[in-house]
Amino acid sequence: MTTYAGPLRDMLFAMQEHGALPAILAQPGHAEVTADLVPAILEEASKFAANVLAPINRQGDIQGCRWDQGVVTAADGFKDAYASFCDTGWHAMPAGTEFGGQGMPTLLCTAVQEMWKASNMAFSLCQMLTLGAVEAIAHHASDELKQRYLPAMVQGRWTGTMNLTEPQAGSDLAAIRSKAQPEGDHYRVSGTKIFITWGEHDMAENIIHLVLARLPDAPPGVKGISLFLCPKFLVNADGTLGERNDLVCASIEHKLGIHGSATAVMSFGEGPGAIGWLVGQPNEGLACMFTMMNHARLNVGLEGVAISERAYQQARAYALDRVQGKTLGRDGAASATIIGHPDVRRMLMDMKARIEAMRALAYFTAGQMDRAHGDADAASRQDAQRLVDLLIPVVKGWCTENALGITSNGVQIHGGMGFIEETGAAQHLRDARITTIYEGTTGIHANDLIGRKVGRDGAVTMRRLIATMQEDAAAIKGRDQAALQAIAAALESGVQALAQATDWLLGASSREAAASAVPYLKLSGTVIGGWMMARAADAAASQLAAFSPAADHPDADFLAAKVVTAQHYALHVLPEAAALRQTTLHGAATTLGLNDAQF
Ligand SMILES: Cc1cc2nc3c(=O)[nH]c(=O)nc-3n(C[C@H](O)[C@H](O)[C@H](O)COP(=O)(O)OP(=O)(O)OC[C@H]3O[C@@H](n4cnc5c(N)ncnc54)[C@H](O)[C@@H]3O)c2cc1C
Repeated sequence: MTTYAGPLRDMLFAMQEHGALPAILAQPGHAEVTADLVPAILEEASKFAANVLAPINRQGDIQGCRWDQGVVTAADGFKDAYASFCDTGWHAMPAGTEFGGQGMPTLLCTAVQEMWKASNMAFSLCQMLTLGAVEAIAHHASDELKQRYLPAMVQGRWTGTMNLTEPQAGSDLAAIRSKAQPEGDHYRVSGTKIFITWGEHDMAENIIHLVLARLPDAPPGVKGISLFLCPKFLVNADGTLGERNDLVCASIEHKLGIHGSATAVMSFGEGPGAIGWLVGQPNEGLACMFTMMNHARLNVGLEGVAISERAYQQARAYALDRVQGKTLGRDGAASATIIGHPDVRRMLMDMKARIEAMRALAYFTAGQMDRAHGDADAASRQDAQRLVDLLIPVVKGWCTENALGITSNGVQIHGGMGFIEETGAAQHLRDARITTIYEGTTGIHANDLIGRKVGRDGAVTMRRLIATMQEDAAAIKGRDQAALQAIAAALESGVQALAQATDWLLGASSREAAASAVPYLKLSGTVIGGWMMARAADAAASQLAAFSPAADHPDADFLAAKVVTAQHYALHVLPEAAALRQTTLHGAATTLGLNDAQF
């Protein structure tokens, strides 16, 4: 079993070249985060991830959480690791300063959170859900609720959950049946919620559930859903914990992966009803939840990047160690380890190229979130927000779908040992599998992309992005290096495919467009990822060119590898755009060609 190492060099590169780090650090409110501090923070986070979270990842997988009469005990080591995570301030890092957080830029937090997710995805979910709940409360709850709940939640002393799903209401939240009955200054909430991540556990003193439910006079459908805050233990005015609320964890699920995190069935109101307080306005619960959706979706897309990185590190280490057959290396020397085999190198290169493109896309989007939030210019903030809205379903859908193939290649590189649980390669594949499902399935995000994000504004934002990619491709094609010219030519073809698919989408019927939604989402990710890699290669080449000889550059190996990796992406991944265009334009006919009985 290898230990995990944060890919710090590539993270910093992606923050600088794609996330526009210097501009974000210059924003008001980030004065305390200097450029020198950023590598130091990444370094410290990497140590925590490697020394505290990675070592218990396997234990979480093997032992899982245990349920006994409503009490859930986390796997050995998790409780101590969680205490240390909070004590050292990592938990509070992304939260706003108003309630005790550190208010760090989203871009920096994204890099740090990538390491939590890579080292122990199950563990990292607890912070992710808590901070999502913090955001929803901070934006929509009364001042009294904020004062009473947020400081402890930001510190991590109390954790948070999102209770949306019910047995009959998964992707379709309009079908929610949980009820809330007014009673004095509060409500009595009742109903059953399923699949609630970290819904019950022993790592924190209290658990604050955000629950979607219907008021007695609520209109049907999504316009009749309200949001309620229901604590596990009621909280007294002085902040001390009072009585146990009427809510219980009825069971936890046995599942394919992320065994270290409890996935709870929550029963509210088996007695008089769980006491809850309204967050936001009546019947506007979904809108309140949407406040935190962009961050949550970026975070799940980031899980795709992180778990892929973990699988890559493990596969690389195995390939450098496993002796099987002989082959000649690039330098002509014989290599006995399997990294010498061209096919193993092909798989490693595929993993590496996709991961770097995914990371660049995720950090680019995180940087745009910071710009949308803190840029001094209102028009620039608006532009950034439009880009964020467009890219979020791509980050979520494309990075997680890619992660399935990447973690599967991680198993393949291990050969038979990959299929054996002992090596840990299989855990990454199992853990990755949920990422395309929760926080909205790929199909749901693809619908969002073609409908709300591209269709609704007549593709204005997408076409603007396409124009920017075309300009960049033309500029890179004009450089005097053959490698850059070839990358730019591949990008040009990819962008043309995306432009044609976008034109088609605007003229398609809604049923045809829905049938082609996932191919269109994958096409968007593949091409935008190619744009990221072309820009990365261009930046790396120009940094190398500034040194004579280039080999004397202190980062020569990393930068030269970046150019080759971008070439690999252009040759092995970007050509998929042509096939995806074909499927998008012509694939709906057969997708919709059979009747139900013919399946
Ligand atoms: C481990 C785990 C943790 C989770 N954590 C939480 C949590 O903390 N809080 C919470 O509230 N929920 C949580 N969930 C629930 C999760 O968000 C849902 O499982 C997910 O939204 C899908 O809903 P569903 O399972 O009902 O699938 P369904 O909605 O039944 O979907 C089944 C299939 O139909 C497709 N489909 C459905 N509707 C459409 C449509 N309109 N267009 C195209 N395709 C469609 C889907 O893409 C999917 O392929 C969790 C689930 C799991 C497994």
